[in-house]
Amino acid sequence: MVAKMADYAGACHRAALRADPVGSNPPFALRAGTWPRAAHGSADFRRGLAYPTVIRSAIWSKIMSRFWSPVVHSLSPYVPGEQPKQDGIVKLNTNENPYPPSPRVLAAIASATDRLRLYPDPRASALRETIAAHYGVEPEEVFVGNGSDEVLAHTFQALLKHDAPLLFPDITYGFYPVYCGLYGIRYEEVPLDAAMSVQIADYRRPCSAILLPNPNAPTGIGLPREAIGRLVAEHPDQLVVIDEAYVDFGAESAVPLVAHHDNLLIVQTLSKSRALAGLRVGFAVGQRPLIEALERVKDSFNSYPLDCLAIAGAVAAIKDDAWFQETRQRIMANRQSLVRALSGLGFEVLPSVANFVFARHPSHRGADLAARLRQRGVLVRHFQKPRIEDFLRITVGTEEQCSRVIALLRGLI
Ligand code: PMP
Repeated sequence: MVAKMADYAGACHRAALRADPVGSNPPFALRAGTWPRAAHGSADFRRGLAYPTVIRSAIWSKIMSRFWSPVVHSLSPYVPGEQPKQDGIVKLNTNENPYPPSPRVLAAIASATDRLRLYPDPRASALRETIAAHYGVEPEEVFVGNGSDEVLAHTFQALLKHDAPLLFPDITYGFYPVYCGLYGIRYEEVPLDAAMSVQIADYRRPCSAILLPNPNAPTGIGLPREAIGRLVAEHPDQLVVIDEAYVDFGAESAVPLVAHHDNLLIVQTLSKSRALAGLRVGFAVGQRPLIEALERVKDSFNSYPLDCLAIAGAVAAIKDDAWFQETRQRIMANRQSLVRALSGLGFEVLPSVANFVFARHPSHRGADLAARLRQRGVLVRHFQKPRIEDFLRITVGTEEQCSRVIALLRGLI
């Protein structure tokens, strides 16, 4: 048994090195997907724990503390894409906007510094009113949080913890199983179809709730609003949460459906289409009882998740619609050129309506391409996960950044 554990730990370590050859991430902070396939069939893995508890204990016993709450021992934290310290890197790995936010955002933040002495508005009323006016809903139908990750976290705790399992796609945003682990939520992963699309008919199974990103990440494939409407109508007694982090790059938002369905919650972010990932602002739109549940959790956790600079900047960002339209159109145009160029190099590119593309080459391993691009100063995202290990997720950058990645790939394949 001990020898087997040692073998296993060795395999894990080698997988870690393959995933991160220059070792910029600590080896104990790896995602589930970076561990050997053998672990994937285990009960721990299916429950959202990345690899068997006994192995984790063996590897981590040195860094664990006897002071930890029991749940902390079983957490498998999400590992975000790398944020390099050095300048000059072409960063196409975390789906940030390559263009700056509206100059009005910067002006609004500068003038809000007068109020730093005071606590911010705990309700963030100005922002909720601005979002409500923009999307044609009531302020009481809007919840705001410190990035949509926080909005999602509160959603998991407030609305998604029931006896029956929560459903979400098998290939999707890696934070979902992490929240399930944190809050002790049962979940089932529903496989994408052979074309990597979500089929809403596959969600006709016993569940407490359904969570879908639209467009999905990391595939970039979107569902039409009409399909979301059917899903919500087919599950009148289950909450349907749609994570629209990337919706502004060509997909259809389901916000207009909220008025007709008490079981629909939409989550959005200002991190992507409004170029404010660093400000940390996200929001949810849903009927009042859903928003009330989120408020209750938020007010039991942190009264002031949005600081006064974030509130001021976010209000200005939503109001500057011209800037928003221009940058998202530019990104969509860049995406078109990037897809064309990748296809020309022989890549299979999934049909993306997001600010990233998901592509694989028939004769090159995804991990190798990602590592070689990285050596040449271009970061893209690679997931060591079954079905998608040969794909690269490439954020749509500026015209120059897209040309750079294409020029490098041309030399590599
Ligand atoms: N949902 C999805 C699908 C994402 O990819 C991300 C970004 N990693 C988020 C939500 C969270 O974004 P943020 O917390 O920056 O709003």
